[in-house]
Amino acid sequence: MKINRNFDNLVPNYLFAEIAKKTSAYAAAHPDEKLIRLGIGDVTLPLPRTAVQAMKIGAGELSLKETFKGYPEYEGYDFVREAVAKYYAGFGVTVGADEVFISDGAKSDTGNIGDIFGADNVVMVPDPVYPVYVDANIMAGRKIIYAPGTREKRFLPMPDESVHADIIYLCSPNNPTGAAYDAEQLKAWVDYANQHDAIILYDAAYEAFIEDDCPRSIFAIDGARTCAIEFCSLSKTAGFTGVRCGYTVIPKELARDGHNIHALWYRRQATKFNGVSYPVQCAAAAVFSQEGQKEFKANIAYYKENARIISKALDELGIFYTGGKNSPYIWLECPKGMGSWEFFDDLLENAQVVGTPGEGFGSQGKGHFRLTSFGDRENTIEAIERIKKILR
Ligand code: PLP
Repeated sequence: MKINRNFDNLVPNYLFAEIAKKTSAYAAAHPDEKLIRLGIGDVTLPLPRTAVQAMKIGAGELSLKETFKGYPEYEGYDFVREAVAKYYAGFGVTVGADEVFISDGAKSDTGNIGDIFGADNVVMVPDPVYPVYVDANIMAGRKIIYAPGTREKRFLPMPDESVHADIIYLCSPNNPTGAAYDAEQLKAWVDYANQHDAIILYDAAYEAFIEDDCPRSIFAIDGARTCAIEFCSLSKTAGFTGVRCGYTVIPKELARDGHNIHALWYRRQATKFNGVSYPVQCAAAAVFSQEGQKEFKANIAYYKENARIISKALDELGIFYTGGKNSPYIWLECPKGMGSWEFFDDLLENAQVVGTPGEGFGSQGKGHFRLTSFGDRENTIEAIERIKKILR
């Protein structure tokens, strides 16, 4: 018996364990001090009421013989797929309901999509970025190359014609940098992918936070239908982190290596995935209703006001940062040339504020730090006052 030896190549990621360890040690030594967490990557506001009502009605239907439902469709019920297509149309992007796959979230799909691609593809991953793309491809034994995000590029890596990749992960707005690509930048990636016969795996988990004219979908870009797959999630859009529901869009015409990609993904899902529960799909469809959208937009506006408060303080302190505008994340350069763990310790010990050291998201994260706006207003304001006090 042999295990998958690629797992030996995973780099242990102690980031969140180390944060938890340091934070609890500090709390135990200073029981009277109030710690404020500005590192939360999870939502804190409750689900839209419309979604919960729909979930209850869906659950009720399962209790009656006449309306009971067993296994759902692998690709999701038509009423949810249609609701997703209509949601896209609302921001001017045409996708077919039959191009939408409902899933249990973007983490699973961005990781699992690799099942349909050969192990010998070269995978390009932005640095820094959400770590799932790297680890999922290490597990599959693929070669990974990095597209470095730097301060000069405002953490938005662009294609380099001299470097070939077969699979390109893009995340916009990005976790952890909060930076979002504009249409011209995305067009450059789409052109690169079409020229290189590559596929872009586009993670739009934070699209609902976009407030300017940055595209909400890669399919807003000409040429994307022949080179891109889009992943999205209700986690950050509508607080579904614990409920679990996302969607993946694959254009019907997307083909590579003599195969239709939509058909391959259907085959993969039909083999390894038995769908999302009916009450959750009812809730997902309700999120996209007029009332549902109104409610989740109010939650996002709340987080974004927190982000605005954090960004304003950084402006006042003259600290370089990205994000905070189209994103719940604010990515800053650690002040006074500090390393990211050094700044973590400084904030913990002197301001009792917990954030996330940037190096947990890639080597370009060294010397950088992520703050999030998922906390409550009062705590965000208090944390910012404390940070200003120690950095002035
Ligand atoms: N994609 C990105 C960029 C994320 O930051 C996250 C969660 O933090 C996810 C996907 C996970 O989404 P889901 O909860 O739908 O699995």
